[in-house]
Amino acid sequence: MKKDVLKKLTAKPGDKHKVSDFRTDYTAGLKKDEAEKLLEENTEKLAKLQDKLYAHDRYSILVIFQAMDAAGKDGTVKHVMSGVNPQGCQVYSFKVPSAEDLDHDYLWRIYKCLPERGRIGIFNRSHYEDVLVAKVHPAIVLNGKLPKINKVEDVDDKFWKKRYRQINDFERHLTENGTIILKFFLNVSHDEQEKRFLARLEDESKNWKFSASDLKERAFWDDYMKAYSDMLTNTSTDEAPWYVIPADNKWFMRYAVGQIICDRMEELKLHYPILTDAAKQEIENAKKVLAPQEEKKPATPLPRAKKATTIKDKQEEKTAKKGKKTK
Ligand code: ATP
Ligand code: MG
Repeated sequence: MKKDVLKKLTAKPGDKHKVSDFRTDYTAGLKKDEAEKLLEENTEKLAKLQDKLYAHDRYSILVIFQAMDAAGKDGTVKHVMSGVNPQGCQVYSFKVPSAEDLDHDYLWRIYKCLPERGRIGIFNRSHYEDVLVAKVHPAIVLNGKLPKINKVEDVDDKFWKKRYRQINDFERHLTENGTIILKFFLNVSHDEQEKRFLARLEDESKNWKFSASDLKERAFWDDYMKAYSDMLTNTSTDEAPWYVIPADNKWFMRYAVGQIICDRMEELKLHYPILTDAAKQEIENAKKVLAPQEEKKPATPLPRAKKATTIKDKQEEKTAKKGKKTK
């Protein structure tokens, strides 16, 4: 991706951000068919890169998606990852925490789902819900039964600052230990979300995607935008910057996500393991065993086959000859 385009999509670490500063319909001058072609090429590239990631065995990739409902998280995961070996990637969707989750700190359930070395892990929602939906509805924080957090008023600015710091510390720890973190906020406009909800209501095949709670959360749009802006300002870091992806055009969103993942993985200079001389010699030896050369045939002739005597022997000889003919 061109540097100036990437710059437009990056929430610069250290700066104060507002979601409204990022366009939701930007397409970097690309046409739909051009972006689709690039996405296809990147899908193939990504499959090869993942293969090398596994062989290289030094890094894992964690791709995080956050967005308002109907922004297109599911479709983006499906399209961008469509070429990757299913054994090389894993997708986790984080829903409302369970009672067991709530008996631990909020990163516990996240830690359990981190990708192992060599793999690409996709988070459909993530620990960022704990500074998004939880910030819009602070009563959620009380469910975590934290010390000294007993009423909604206790969930103040200081509390959120601490939580952003914890997330940054957590992500720094991961990146210092070989996890590359790519964070995508799929930025859909209020109008486009309405169109997509209406499409879900009108098209019977999409009815199942609609949930009344989506409409309830839409009523909190401004609060969510404020929470997303705070998230970008406080958690876009040099190790793990936020990419704000224009989501009004699905084709551009999918292209942009795929391109950023490919570019980042290419920077890692992944390669297949370099063999030691001893390992190379072993390969040569194995080749000799599996495909012996002509001159390696035994010098002394093999003993002549015994002449068939019994009826059973004759039958076996016949079938053996037949087999040779058909080969
Ligand atoms: P889709 O609707 O496409 O199936 P989705 O990600 O919207 O995907 P839902 O089951 O509709 O899935 O929503 C999951 C819900 O779980 C969201 O409303 C989200 O805010 C909520 N959630 C996720 N993590 C937390 C959390 N830590 N605390 C409270 N709510 C959470
Ligand atoms: Mg939903």
